[in-house]
Amino acid sequence: MEYETVIGLEVHAELSTESKLFCGCANRFGAPPNSLVCPVCLGLPGVLPVVNRKAVEYIVLVGLAVGGEIASYSKFDRKNYFYPDMPKNFQISQYDLPLCDGGTVRIELDGLKKDIRLKRVHLEEDTGKSVHGGTIDSSDFTLEDYNRAGVPLMEIVSEPDMRSPAEAHAYMEELHRLLRWLGVSDCKMEEGSLRCDANISVRSKGETALGVKTEIKNMNSFRSVEAALACEEKRQIEILENGGEVLQETRGWNEDRCITFLMRSKEEVQEYRYFPEPDLVPIRVEPEKIESIRAGLPELPFDRQARYMEQYNLEADTAKALVQSRYFSDFFDRCILTYKEARAVVNWLLGDVSKFLNENNIELEKTGVTPQSLVEMIRLIDDGKLSGKIAKEILPEMMKSGEPPAAIAQKMGLSQESDESRILEWVLEALRESPDAVAEYRRGKEKALGFIVGQVMKKSRGQANPGIVNKLIKQELDKS
Ligand SMILES: [Zn+2]
Repeated sequence: MEYETVIGLEVHAELSTESKLFCGCANRFGAPPNSLVCPVCLGLPGVLPVVNRKAVEYIVLVGLAVGGEIASYSKFDRKNYFYPDMPKNFQISQYDLPLCDGGTVRIELDGLKKDIRLKRVHLEEDTGKSVHGGTIDSSDFTLEDYNRAGVPLMEIVSEPDMRSPAEAHAYMEELHRLLRWLGVSDCKMEEGSLRCDANISVRSKGETALGVKTEIKNMNSFRSVEAALACEEKRQIEILENGGEVLQETRGWNEDRCITFLMRSKEEVQEYRYFPEPDLVPIRVEPEKIESIRAGLPELPFDRQARYMEQYNLEADTAKALVQSRYFSDFFDRCILTYKEARAVVNWLLGDVSKFLNENNIELEKTGVTPQSLVEMIRLIDDGKLSGKIAKEILPEMMKSGEPPAAIAQKMGLSQESDESRILEWVLEALRESPDAVAEYRRGKEKALGFIVGQVMKKSRGQANPGIVNKLIKQELDKS
């Protein structure tokens, strides 16, 4: 029997607002435990939450970017459950009236584009964090850090539109790029600011009804989303093949052992006893407000990718690599404002610049290179003041120190030598020392020229302008 996998994802992203969702505490990762708390986010009796305007605007911005419908009337609800990381014993979330309905996220996998529909995008507060002494099942104690309690969290719920773990992976990467592009979340999976739960079921191919689904939690990297889903897909198919029944349950993902394991049989939504949050007024986003946020929407990655292909005649893969992040792409655009040869800029950005970023595991915005300094470097090459080879040595220094290329070249003693009389000395020396190559060249072997050029470059420690070197060697050989 052939099977089809059906996957829907619930993605949580912490919004990068200055303060928390309902109080003035700072929204910051990595502070000492329980140093960013107040009576509101600790849920002490008698306090009143006040909603963070920026958090609502961020949801509207994302909603508009995915083409969703922004609710004209929205409200918060209490989701009631008990867990020690949640001081109030309820979470303020949105139930039946989310801020945004619908929308789509376009993914691209193996060159094929596919639109994943969204159910909704809503706003809620994050919980605190439980810290166990060792692993959760062997620890003698658990500590609670409430710095994260009340941090604004965006929940993006997709329709069950994905058909493979690879599509789920592509969807996560696309959301990651989009949310960072819009500047609403830093999406650091390793710090928990982007998290993902997945619903997955399998059914026989051609069947239209959905199979029984399980929910997978604890996937904290793109790779683990794909690995966990592949593992769960296999587990469910094996159960069905053996005539068994998949049970609706919540399962965890053990990264080290590469297995999913039972956490709890799935609770029904009624068990949360949702009811409207009485301490917060409903939200009405005025049409003018929506329009002003829409006007501030940047050009989105897919549109920009298409524009690059059209405008600069770039291949799809190249254009896609340029829009990997908004900063990277804006960097390219700013270079092109002053230097029209797109291809040269592309080659440096996707070549040596990216190599440096990968090797140092750093983002472009954290380096010292600017569009101005990169363009200056390319111009120095064009003018023959820097060889491509020397530029490759200078670039990492530019990225580390932020100094302009000419200054680095001088400091490192790497400026290109273009003084003809100086180069002629090296050429004559090289010709004297390479009688065999000279003879071969005279017999018509053009290749021998390359050897002589190499000798001159060696003598000049790579600094001689290769164009002038070639010209002078030919000139000397033709003379005699
Ligand atoms: Zn607080």
